[in-house]
This record gives sequence, structure tokens and C-alpha cells, in this order.
Amino acid sequence: SPTMALADLARTDLAAFADAQRAAYAELKAKGLKLDLTRGKPSPEQLDLSERLLGLPTGHTAADGTDVRNYGGLAGLPELRAIFAELLGTSVDNVVAAGSSSLTLMHDTLVQALLYGRPNSVEPWGVEDVVRFLCPTPGYDRHFALADRLGIELVPVPMSDDGPDVDVVTSLVADDPTIKGMWLVPTYANPTGAVCSDEVARTLASMPTAARDFTIMWDNAYAVHHLTEVETTTPDIITLAAEAGNPDRVVVFASTSKITFAGAGVAFLAGSEATVAAYLEGLGYYSIGPDKVNHLRHVEFFGDADGVRAHMAKHRELIAPKFAAVQRVLTERLAQHGIAEWTDPAGGYFVNLDVLDGTAKRVVELAKEAGIALTPAGSAFPYGEDPRDRNIRLAPTLPPLAEVEAAMDGVATCVLLAAAEELLG
Ligand code: PMP
Repeated sequence: SPTMALADLARTDLAAFADAQRAAYAELKAKGLKLDLTRGKPSPEQLDLSERLLGLPTGHTAADGTDVRNYGGLAGLPELRAIFAELLGTSVDNVVAAGSSSLTLMHDTLVQALLYGRPNSVEPWGVEDVVRFLCPTPGYDRHFALADRLGIELVPVPMSDDGPDVDVVTSLVADDPTIKGMWLVPTYANPTGAVCSDEVARTLASMPTAARDFTIMWDNAYAVHHLTEVETTTPDIITLAAEAGNPDRVVVFASTSKITFAGAGVAFLAGSEATVAAYLEGLGYYSIGPDKVNHLRHVEFFGDADGVRAHMAKHRELIAPKFAAVQRVLTERLAQHGIAEWTDPAGGYFVNLDVLDGTAKRVVELAKEAGIALTPAGSAFPYGEDPRDRNIRLAPTLPPLAEVEAAMDGVATCVLLAAAEELLG
């Protein structure tokens, strides 16, 4: 019976099942679809929520009298920093408002560490023969590529539902001084949706590390991107690190890329007093000041932190049905066959789909031939290498709901066909 797990079917039943999937796949291809679930981009309707920004700011004077049209104010507009300090659970002095991309701030931070060291370094990282970074996996492909490009070796560590596996992390960092840091998306992680617990955060903030300047790249890109009414708060890692006697261990990043306009919002960097001071000291050589007009535009648009929360509730109304559709189709089409598992995130931009071992590349290829673009298999792993070839990242925010449903139905057909072929050998 097709309601049995595929792996338990007799060979003749499995062959019949594969034939049925081939027929379904042929039908799928005949539809000539052109669907794209590759990247976590806001939909046009989400961007429309921020349309009013295009008419702002109405004035050009900041709260302290600064003319935002002129140079200066390297740390960014204080009133915008205050709004995001509240949302990030820290204080205004610990936050810098910068340009439009948090990835750029991450790149700046690593380049500064390699060339000059972090505030708590004895020497720049670049003098070391080997610099390694822990990469909670599956994780964000751009984090891994950015570090790799700078010559930092990538060391995968498993990602759990409550953050990175701290048993693995604590034992690696305790003995190995070449491990200079780690990536982490603490809230609604890309791509699993995992939320770092207070306990895991406390361990990461306090664990003994062989490298005295071990640095956590705490990328809180999805801090306020809730998909349910539960507004999860991220652990206050800056305070936890300070309390543990490791104040300079963390650099926090965030941006409004998925709040207002992707690539035309505001990015933030936060950390200890020394972390912020060192960042600004370096920045001062290559910037005379950020785009404060854009900062003021965002201040006028939001008003305060509650304005951001209310705005995010509108995003939720638009995208939660798409995430629900992903769950519904995957459950209907795949649950009974015992060949796939997927996450049901409470926030963020992604669903993590694990298919039968050894079939992820094949699924992505089948989907591509049927006109459904998926993120390349293995993307969420350091060097793009998924040792089990099973992981696929789904990004359902951009297409209209009907297209998300059609794409997921098509993906399910590809997952079943690839699994049946793999099991038949
Ligand atoms: N961090 C994470 C975890 C992301 O998923 C993304 C975008 N998909 C970014 C950073 C990019 O942020 P920005 O646009 O601020 O560079």
C-alpha cells in the first residue's frame, strides 16, 4: 500500500510506486511551470508595506539639531539606534546604525580582525597560519562563503532546535586556539528556524576558549520576524558575555532588509563599548558618516520600537499563509511515506527540508527540469558539501500563495520520484 513507508514496500510495490511518480512527474513537466523558491526575498506586497518610506523624511533635522543632509555622525542617528537597541535587547551606546547591508558589517568586522585584531586580541588574526570558524550546520551560505573568501577555514558543527550543539562547540573551542570564532543566527535561524535558548546562549558567552579573542558573529537578522503571535525574544548575549567576563566575545548584527526594503534599509552592529569603539575607529578611515537621511526616514516611518512591531505583524499576515501552505502540502504529500522531514518554523524566512539520504541533488535537478528553481543542494553546508546529500532550503516568501502551493506540490513529486529511484537502486 502506498501509505506504508517507502522503505518497507515490497520491490514490486515500490516499482509500481516509482511508475506512478514518473507519470506524475511527466504531468508536472508538461505544465511548463516557472517558479522560484531559491532566495529569501520579500514579496512585492511586503515591499508595498514600506512604500511610504519613498516620501520620507519630511524634515532634515535630527532630534539633537543635526542636519542629516551633511557629513558626520559616524555611529548613526541616535534616535534610530535607540529604536533598534530596544528591539535587540541592548542599550543605545552599544549600537551603531550604518549603511544598508549587515553582511557588509560582518565583512568589515572580519577584515578588521584579520588586519588589526579584535579589541581583546594580542595579535591580528592574519598573522596566524590557520584561522578557523565554527559553522552551525545547516546554516547561511553567505556566512560560510564570506569567511572562506577571507581564508578562514570552515568547521561544521551540528545545529539543534535550541541553537548549536554546545557539547561539540565547548569541546572544540576549549583546546584549539586556531578556532577564532563562530557564526550564529540566534533567532529563527537560516534555514532551520531554530531559536537559541537562554541556556545555550549562556554557555556560548561563558565557555572557556583556547583563543582569548574567540568571537561570536551573532547575526540576529530575524530578531523581529515572527510567524506566530509569540514574539520570541533573543537572549541578551552582550550582557551575558559581559557578566561572564568576556565582554568583547560577541558582535551582534541586524538589518531592516526584511523589515523595510531589502538592500535599501539600515544595518546595525552592536557589542561591548570596546567592540563598538574599535569598529568606529576602523570605520573612520573609510567613511565620513552613514546615510543619515535614510536613518531619519526610518525614524519617521516607525516612530518607535512598537511601530516596528506593528509593521512586522503586517508582514506576518502576508507570509504566514505561505508557510502554512508549505506545511500543508508537504504533510499531505510526504508524511505517510517516511522519506522526508521538515521544520515548521515560528519565524524567519525558511523551511528546512531533509529528503532521503543521497537524493537532494537529484530532487533539485528534477525540480529544475520541471521549471521549479530551488537553492542548490548542499548550499547550507560549509563549502557546499552536504555529507548526506539530503538537505534542501525552501524560501516561500517571494512567490504568490498559489505559486508556493504549486511549487511545493511539484517539489513533493520530485522528492517521491527521487526516493523511489534511490530505493530501487
Ligand atoms: N543574515 C542572514 C541570516 C540572512 O538570511 C540574510 C539575508 N538573507 C542576511 C544576513 C543579509 O542581510 P543584509 O541584507 O543586511 O546584508
